[in-house]
Amino acid sequence: MNKPTRKQDALNYHAKGRPGKIQVVPTKPTNSQRDLTLAYSPGVAEPCREIANNVDDVYKYTAKGNLVAVISNGTAVLGLGNIGPEASKPVMEGKGLLFKIYADIDVFDLEVNAKSVDDFVNIVKALEPTFGGVNLEDISAPTCFEIERRLKAEMNIPVMHDDQHGTAIISGAALMNACEIQGKKLEKIKLVVNGAGAAAVSCTKMYLSLGVKKENLVMFDINGLITPDRTDLDDIRLEFATSRKDITTLAEAMKGADVFIGLSAGNVVTADMLMGMAKNPVVFAMANPEPEINYDVATAARKDIIMATGRSDYPNQVNNVLGFPYIFRGALDVRATAINEEMKIAAVKAIAEMAKKPVPEAVNLAYNLTNLKFGKDYIIPKPMDQRLITEVSSAVAKAAIESGVARKVITDWDAYNEELMS
Ligand code: NAP
Ligand code: MG
Repeated sequence: MNKPTRKQDALNYHAKGRPGKIQVVPTKPTNSQRDLTLAYSPGVAEPCREIANNVDDVYKYTAKGNLVAVISNGTAVLGLGNIGPEASKPVMEGKGLLFKIYADIDVFDLEVNAKSVDDFVNIVKALEPTFGGVNLEDISAPTCFEIERRLKAEMNIPVMHDDQHGTAIISGAALMNACEIQGKKLEKIKLVVNGAGAAAVSCTKMYLSLGVKKENLVMFDINGLITPDRTDLDDIRLEFATSRKDITTLAEAMKGADVFIGLSAGNVVTADMLMGMAKNPVVFAMANPEPEINYDVATAARKDIIMATGRSDYPNQVNNVLGFPYIFRGALDVRATAINEEMKIAAVKAIAEMAKKPVPEAVNLAYNLTNLKFGKDYIIPKPMDQRLITEVSSAVAKAAIESGVARKVITDWDAYNEELMS
């Protein structure tokens, strides 16, 4: 498809018929006058009274328990930057659509005029009565770190900034599997992270939780290597400063490295740099839409590479949709008060394990492929794999229960899985 057609197709897709991608649909009968007196006045007063007497009944009589806010201030939208809240709305509607089709979660997308931490936090906090969970989206760094920290501390429903943790979870699963295939231990790998933004910081934290050693990693931002003597950096980034004195450039850092993680900008890595990496290298070039190094260039330069990108037109796409619908599904189903580290790690492991299981024929068919199996070109599951909802949601729900943040306990896991599949 050439570019002008794709552009027009995308605009038509959004503009045709009723503009946008979502609508609100009643879930109860509305055919008779009686139905309406139950749905609204006077019948509606009954659930109101029940909830006024016992606030937890809001989960029994309203849509709260299956409703997630996808909320953005439009300051870091896709790869488009600070384009403002209105311009972010197609993305937030799209995210709502994905929540719905993959995990039957209803979403209100909320685009807010609030750039400061205080304004944003106050708005989101005030919305707690409406929602079962909050997906923060496309908020620029470093504000996003403080916004999420405060909301997690001050709210009693799950809050997750997907650009940070979704990416960390999916790429964490991919990293575990890629290292396993390449015969590398996470505790031993030498890792170069290019980028020090929202995604890079949270991915790196996840890799440390999975076993990577801080002394084995170096991080770069647009100004170069992150070292303790840099005066232009906040504590969040300085946490990843290296005391190594033998390197300054990215090319030097790549020499002998086992893993390259790119969450920065397109085409900043050369084939020559890859040639310097250790045997059986792992390269996740996740800048969108152009990866740090082109897939074909990288795989031509190194036959022993495992390569992942953010793109759907190459193998091993690190796609957040493998995570967020099911992480929220599991969290909502046990009425979790948070999405904590235990739940995130459970999601990582469930996604990683799933990739090792035989792939259902329906998945091969959906992607026009044959014989997909665990290996260099298939280190994480495909988004249209219908096992994701049972594998990931139940792992997350279990972890919520075991880590003490669940307000509702599931005991019959077979019944729960069946419900998820229906
Ligand atoms: P961000 O917060 O803006 O961070 C970008 C980071 O990259 C910043 O630290 C920036 O440095 C650094 N950077 C920019 N150009 C660089 C260069 N030439 N060399 C080294 N560092 C450079 O953005 P983000 O949300 O973390 O996302 C970063 C990239 O990852 C984007 O391309 C995004 O599309 C992609 N991403 C992909 C996935 C996925 O594949 N699933 C998920 C999330 C993000 P300064 O701090 O000095 O400005
Ligand atoms: Mg996003």
